[in-house]
Amino acid sequence: MQEGRKVNRLISILIFALILLSCGERKEQKQLSDLEIKMNSIAEEYVKLVLKVGQYDPNYVDAYYGPREWNPSEKNLAFDSIAYNNLSSTADSLLNELELLSEYNATKLETMRYLYLYKQLLAVKTKLIILNGTTLPFDLESKGFYDATAPPQTEEEFQKVIVELDELLPGEGSIEERIVNFKKQFQIPKEKLTTVFDAAIKECRERTNKYIQLPPGEKFKVEYVENKPWGAYNWYKGNLFSIIQIATDFPVYIDGAVGLAAHEGYPGHHVYNILLEKNLVKDNGWIEYTVYPLYSPQSLIAEGTAVYGEELLFPDDERIQFEKEVLFPIAEIDTTNYNLYYKINSLKEKLRGSEIIAARNYIDGKWTKTETVNWLQKYQLRTKERAEKYLSFIETYRSYVITYYVGKKMISKYIERNGGTENNLAKSWEIFTRLVSTPQTPSGLQD
Ligand SMILES: [Zn+2]
Repeated sequence: MQEGRKVNRLISILIFALILLSCGERKEQKQLSDLEIKMNSIAEEYVKLVLKVGQYDPNYVDAYYGPREWNPSEKNLAFDSIAYNNLSSTADSLLNELELLSEYNATKLETMRYLYLYKQLLAVKTKLIILNGTTLPFDLESKGFYDATAPPQTEEEFQKVIVELDELLPGEGSIEERIVNFKKQFQIPKEKLTTVFDAAIKECRERTNKYIQLPPGEKFKVEYVENKPWGAYNWYKGNLFSIIQIATDFPVYIDGAVGLAAHEGYPGHHVYNILLEKNLVKDNGWIEYTVYPLYSPQSLIAEGTAVYGEELLFPDDERIQFEKEVLFPIAEIDTTNYNLYYKINSLKEKLRGSEIIAARNYIDGKWTKTETVNWLQKYQLRTKERAEKYLSFIETYRSYVITYYVGKKMISKYIERNGGTENNLAKSWEIFTRLVSTPQTPSGLQD
């Protein structure tokens, strides 16, 4: 009996604890729903603010698929002090409202949403300061826009790679000339571009679909264009649909097909956008994801995951194997020198980041156009025309150039730190999927 009473008491205590817990939960739920109401209202104002800023810079709003009536019809307006004061005070008051939310309990995902909105708003402020006529130094601009700065790199580290390349492909003329000439045999003939791309897209999609459940109905359309500062672009339209444009002014090399299909499509930008739309906009009603301001931390996550995704898709030599067995025959390219081609390509990977040095020096006024083009020819192994085209990319997008290299490094370090390795591909994909389905900030990915 005594034992029984003890048991009864224990049960009463347990029931009491459960009642307390459930009260706490109810209380917490009520607070969370208040929090969500406030967050949703700030998010709505943020979307409208971004759209208004977009009236002054046609490149600013990269994608928008929220309510049509929020999008102002007047575009290409001249920026003045009235616009600055109005928009800047809206950004400030939204930041203040966010800061006041610290009293609420929030889930991990809500905290991430909060941090994302906060950093995105800081980037809007940076944009307004620049529109108002202030020129920020390269690193300060990248910090304001992308929540990150590029680490210092030295010419020596790139010079070493050039020496290795020089040994790999000896001969007359400069190394960039030799490489440019050697690569000619790997150009995809223009009339074969569509079939080669279709095969690359199919492969990238199938590989992605093994690890990421792609929402039914997702699709994209490929368009071939000319005279753009970029090589390819994903225009996200909402409803799980993208338009991918590929510039064909310059030759596309055989490995570029998978590169573009993975970066712009699967598991790159298209997948990033459809997962955010499905998980955050449709499932959670988080409206801030219907707008994508190009100059914002979101771009560093988008580019970083797109560059990283290309490697994740084809572990070890699987990419070379696929290209050699499937794409080379479709493009009718001879495979004789493919070994050397891939050796050169893998060494060229080590030159990534050298473009940031060029951009920083050019934007900060330390290098002339000619000096910048020379550097890009030398360390990016570009023809003069391609180096000039890249210079026009730098002039248009400025510190955006850091998002690829810095973003990829940040994403790969984060995935490694959390257990994703070459030997544990499933884990890498699991973390990658989480990164492209949840609110992320570059500073939040660091140690
Ligand atoms: Zn990209």
